[in-house]
Amino acid sequence: MTQELIDTLPALRQGRSLVVAIDGPSGSGKSSVSKEVARRLKLAYLDTGAMYRAVTWYCLNGGTDLSDGAAVEQASKDMPLDISTNPYDEYVLVGGTDITEVIREPAISAAVSAVATTLGARTELIRRQRELIEKHHRRMVVEGRDITTVVVPGAEVRMLLTASEQARLRRRGIQLGGTQNAEQLAAQVTHRDAKDSTVVNFTQAADGVVTLDSSELDFEQTVQAALGIVSKVINRD
Ligand code: C5P
Repeated sequence: MTQELIDTLPALRQGRSLVVAIDGPSGSGKSSVSKEVARRLKLAYLDTGAMYRAVTWYCLNGGTDLSDGAAVEQASKDMPLDISTNPYDEYVLVGGTDITEVIREPAISAAVSAVATTLGARTELIRRQRELIEKHHRRMVVEGRDITTVVVPGAEVRMLLTASEQARLRRRGIQLGGTQNAEQLAAQVTHRDAKDSTVVNFTQAADGVVTLDSSELDFEQTVQAALGIVSKVINRD
């Protein structure tokens, strides 16, 4: 897509809803691609994975037993969360404490599936996500695991961003600054995805969801491909 064409996209649907729902496994490049798509389309941005990570941090910090489903559900309701929806300014605050960085640490990645598989906590987080989408008049890029299927199945644009396991392990390894060995990386990528997929299916695209495989694409090419998918939908309406 040419820059001129991209520049026209935000104006095309001004004043109308435009939810871009992007699901995918860890290491697919979902967060960075989604954020960049939001910037170029001048939309708000929501990283729902950060919300699951925030609940995990809140439980660990408050001494809540992650294997106690009722307690985790209650914690998800009690958590005073303030999450950025600005794609230029990423932050996650819980009760005023800045946890933006700490929720990316391997200890949280290793524990987060316990929250993701607690259905009561999912219900609460989905409620909060929908509230944020409405607050932004349904003009938002929302990324996660169940956005195209559960959170906003009626989104104007729905895509599944995938990449080969090899590409995903490599990217996550680079992201963590080479601090993790192969086994630790597999625990955070492959094993976590296996646990997560017991409650949400993000490995295959549901009906009407477009698959974008980024294994052979670099960052800019992936962003362009995602914008191409958005533009097709916008031009069709
Ligand atoms: O995307 P990220 O790796 O930050 O997500 C962290 C975790 O949050 C995932 O491993 C998954 O357990 C959970 N998650 C989820 N549903 C979403 C987003 C994330 O279950 N929509």
